[in-house]
Amino acid sequence: MLFGRKDKKPIKIVDKAVKEWKYTTCGYCSTGCSIEVGLDEDGKAVGTRGDSGADVNRGKLCIKGIFEHELFDSAGRGDKPLMRDKAYNDWSEASWDDALDKTASEIKRIQEAYGKDSFAIVSTGQLLTEEFYTLGKLARGCIGTNNYDGNTTLCMASAVSGYKRSFGSDGPPGCYDDFEHTECLIAWGSNLPEQHPIIYWRLKEALEKRTFPVIVVDPRVTMFAQFADIHLPITPGTDVVLQNSLMHVILSEGLEDRDYIDAHTQGIEEVEALVKDYDPVTASKICGIDEDTIRNVARIYAKAGTAMSIWTMGINQSTHGSDGVVGINNLNLVTGNIGKPGGTSLSITGQCNAMGTREWSSCSGLPGYRYLENEQDREEIADFWGIDKDFFPTKRGLAETDIFPAIETGEIKGLWLVATNPMTSMPQTARVRKALEKLEFLVVQDSYKDVETNQYSHMYLPAAVWGEKEGVFTNTERRVNLVRKVMEPHGDSQADFWIFKELAKRFPNGQKIKFSETTDEIFKEMTELSKGEGRTLDISGMSHEKIAASKGIQWPFREGSEQDKGDPRLYTDGKFQTKNQKANLIPLPYIENNETPCNDYPFWMNSGRVVEHFHTRTKTGKLGNLNKFSPTPYMEMNPDAARELGVAHQSYVRIASRRGDAVVMVQLTQRVSRNMVFIPFHFYDCVNRVSLGLLDPHSRQPAFKQCAIRIEPIDQEMAGHLNVERRGF
Ligand code: SF4
Repeated sequence: MLFGRKDKKPIKIVDKAVKEWKYTTCGYCSTGCSIEVGLDEDGKAVGTRGDSGADVNRGKLCIKGIFEHELFDSAGRGDKPLMRDKAYNDWSEASWDDALDKTASEIKRIQEAYGKDSFAIVSTGQLLTEEFYTLGKLARGCIGTNNYDGNTTLCMASAVSGYKRSFGSDGPPGCYDDFEHTECLIAWGSNLPEQHPIIYWRLKEALEKRTFPVIVVDPRVTMFAQFADIHLPITPGTDVVLQNSLMHVILSEGLEDRDYIDAHTQGIEEVEALVKDYDPVTASKICGIDEDTIRNVARIYAKAGTAMSIWTMGINQSTHGSDGVVGINNLNLVTGNIGKPGGTSLSITGQCNAMGTREWSSCSGLPGYRYLENEQDREEIADFWGIDKDFFPTKRGLAETDIFPAIETGEIKGLWLVATNPMTSMPQTARVRKALEKLEFLVVQDSYKDVETNQYSHMYLPAAVWGEKEGVFTNTERRVNLVRKVMEPHGDSQADFWIFKELAKRFPNGQKIKFSETTDEIFKEMTELSKGEGRTLDISGMSHEKIAASKGIQWPFREGSEQDKGDPRLYTDGKFQTKNQKANLIPLPYIENNETPCNDYPFWMNSGRVVEHFHTRTKTGKLGNLNKFSPTPYMEMNPDAARELGVAHQSYVRIASRRGDAVVMVQLTQRVSRNMVFIPFHFYDCVNRVSLGLLDPHSRQPAFKQCAIRIEPIDQEMAGHLNVERRGF
């Protein structure tokens, strides 16, 4: 008998009496897994499973996807529009007509009194792409504020900015299939197994067929770092120094791909001049990686036949976020690793449709990667929508992280938040709270009425969740996939798309611009707008039917395309979206400009995601099967540091920075070094009470992952009470 296996009962999935499985795409992270939701004979969602025929996940799901059907019935859903006055007196229920009339009249009042841009809109990465396009029409074409942005500024803005600076356009050049071809992979600030488990599974699949070195750059010994061949525990915020030093070794040892550099790039002389100063000895003193390891990694990467880099928030959420992305692109350009199987830069996006908002929402410009700064783009969209081109501003307005300071100074008086929760997600909670309290009118549009930010709103608009509406998402590898309507919206909640088009009717330009009645019609409109010689974001060959048949199609996918899946890679011909079609190699001088530990605040504070939660727990905090793994705000701390401070495992401590304080439970682990702690960012009234969040100058993304704190033992009974109160919110 082999370890009693003979007597073991196999795992049995409880029979939930599923009568029908409905296809859709996961609404959590940007991996883009195809799922099927099982409905019982009463039409209740009782199960979720992965679609085995889908390219992305091939039947697999992570823990969030497995329990996604539980979302439909989760606590805290909003079912009626709610209104209240400026004094935050009790809510009163309202009809949709009254709620939208009031919202439109308040927007107009504020704009007439203080100017068009005094009303701001902050959107999300959670909506369907057709909804983003419709919101863009409303915000840019009808309301006309220039202070319109997405919460993607908190997660992907640095990737967007870096792609634009290097390649002349946004758009991740690589795909998951690159794992099957690469000979070396560096992961920068990405804990793939926890953040994007199914992408990690794709990587493991590739590694099971053949081995290649996996190098993880992360200050913490993450799960990914534990599985890596080489772990580089970098000093927070110094990625650019390491990148410059790797470039120094590659260029000084003649390991670059000179033919590729000469044919497809510009700027090598400036980069060569700058990286001379970043020899491994000098760099090691700043970035904390020893000189031999720097040389070793540079040689492995440059000598590999193909090499690729992936990254997540460890790069993006930094005061050097955009530079860090350009640094990755520099490395790949000098080694000829762009646009070929296994040789690429691939940002791993956060939210399920962060790509869709980048492509079509008009947040940072106009739809289809068009620019407000470009007259031809303004004219094209104004003609297409049937409005005067002078209605558009001629340059981009404020990013989300600049909108809140503009509320503080009184420049912005009204705000509409769509599926975003800044009370938990933005740095410096105390400042955010004060700013929200200052607003004359705050609209919160969300599927959940108990979302923390709703404490400060005057209007709450209940929205459907992902599986209660139909449209598309784009995943990290540019794959457009279909979200099918599995259920009717909860109560009187409505699809965000419906809310936008109904609100548009209350503005003069809403009479001129056509707002389609179905997301299918909107998608056709987007395909028309995407056509154009040399456009990478071309979806003109797609339709909802074709996407459903293929279970996802990558763009570009041009009209008349003979394939059925789209192009897996960008820039395969070495032509980029710059004026002379050459990629930009950009020198990146490093300036230390962030908070670092000192005598008063001796610990680095790092933050990030854990697998069982998603963003501000608006959804996962409600599902027992997910929340039970970490219901309490906690902090990973090194046992040696804890011993010095007299802090015990699973005791509560107070953490304090120059901005504020919070109480967390201690989890002792060697994953973090003696002078560093790690705290999941998901919890309300926790990490962002102390975070600093200085901004990247290019992307305006906050440096969530870098600030200094001190740790104090506290009375355990008091802390326990505080924690119970918090969880009861
Ligand atoms: Fe959903 Fe992401 Fe998990 Fe896939 S990996 S099931 S897309 S949360």
